[in-house]
Amino acid sequence: MTEPTVAYRICPLCEACCGLTVELRDGRVAAVRGDREDVFSAGYLCPKGVALRELHEDPDRVREPLVKRDGRFVTATWDEAFAEIERRLPPILARSGRDAAALAIGNPTVHKMGLLLYVTRLARALGTRNVFSASTLDQMPKQLSSGLLFGHWLSIPVPDIERCDFLLVLGANPVASNGSLWTVPDFRGKAKALQARGGKLVVVDPRRTETARLADRHLFIRPGGDVFFLLGLVHTLFAEGLVRLGTLAEHVNGVEAVREAVVPFAPERVA
Ligand code: SF4
Repeated sequence: MTEPTVAYRICPLCEACCGLTVELRDGRVAAVRGDREDVFSAGYLCPKGVALRELHEDPDRVREPLVKRDGRFVTATWDEAFAEIERRLPPILARSGRDAAALAIGNPTVHKMGLLLYVTRLARALGTRNVFSASTLDQMPKQLSSGLLFGHWLSIPVPDIERCDFLLVLGANPVASNGSLWTVPDFRGKAKALQARGGKLVVVDPRRTETARLADRHLFIRPGGDVFFLLGLVHTLFAEGLVRLGTLAEHVNGVEAVREAVVPFAPERVA
C-alpha cells in the first residue's frame, strides 16, 4: 500500500465553498474531511460535504455519456454521443428555432472555473434564452437588482458576519443554506460568535426556521408582507434622519427619488 497523499479542493455542491482535504490512497479516495486551514470554512462541512466520498463512489453516478435508444438510456462513447448530437440537434434548431434547446446547469458545474467558462460559451453558441440553474430557481431577482443597483449581476453585497454587531435576516434561512450567495459556511458557529461578542441576530420570517430558533429575536411576518416591511423601514430611515451617506455620497445617485417613493409607507400604514 502506498503512502496517502492529500489534495486540497472545495466542495462543489453549494456557494459556501467549504474547503476539503481529500486523502488519496492507491488512486482511490480514502477520506474527505473539512480543511481546518480554509479561511472561510475552518474545517466545517455540512452532511452533504461529509458524504462526498460516498457520492464519488456511488455506482449509480453517471460516468460516461448516455444516449436514449428505444426509450431507455444506454452507455455510449464520447464520439458516439457527439455524433448523436450532430445528427439530432441541428434539425431541431432549424425546425423550431434556437429556443427549442435548453440548458440545465447544476451547482457542481458552476463551481468549477473550467466548466463555468465552457458553459457560457456553449450557451452563447446555442443561442437559446432557456438556461436553467439553481440560480434561476431561487436567486435571479437578487442578481437582477444587484446588476441594476451596482452595475454587474455578480456585484452582490453581503453582510460582514465576522465583524458586524447587528444582523437582520429577512426571508432567508442561512443555518440550512449556509448563506448561498452570501458564502457563510458554518453560519451557526458564526452567529454564535456574533452573539458572544455582544451582537444581536434578528430574524423576520413567517416560519420558525432553524435560523429563527438561534435568533435573539424572531419577528413573525405575514407571507407576502416583506415588501411593506422594507418600505416602512426605508420610510423610517428618512423620516428619522438616519440616511447619512458619508463618503459613499459621491458614488450614489437617486436618493431623492427613493425618499419620495417611500413617503406614503409610514410603518403605521403598512403594519
Ligand atoms: S455547506 Fe455543505 S454543500 Fe455547501 S459547500 Fe459546504 S459542505 Fe458543500
